[in-house]
Amino acid sequence: MKHFFDVKGSTGNNYTVTINVTDDGKLTAGCTCKAGMNATLCKHVIGIINDNEEFSDLLQAQKYYYLYEIFLNKSAEAEILKKEAAKAKKQFSHSLMKE
Ligand SMILES: [Zn+2]
Repeated sequence: MKHFFDVKGSTGNNYTVTINVTDDGKLTAGCTCKAGMNATLCKHVIGIINDNEEFSDLLQAQKYYYLYEIFLNKSAEAEILKKEAAKAKKQFSHSLMKE
């Protein structure tokens, strides 16, 4: 089932985040922003997932969730960890951004 969310970007542009929950409970996501169009996990998708318990729960059951956690945690930490976070983000994007 597809869910659509209108998101206002920081530069005032409007984007549409698509979250698709497959019949077997897998989550994929898409966004119409530049990063999203390049199949990269963007802050719009992160925002929607973090604000929605159903999506967070589904995501946690997925194999690549640990990459998302690394990304979120390391991003918030020291500069030196950002490379690791970026790598995790890239790998996670690859598994999630399929819409
Ligand atoms: Zn986006």
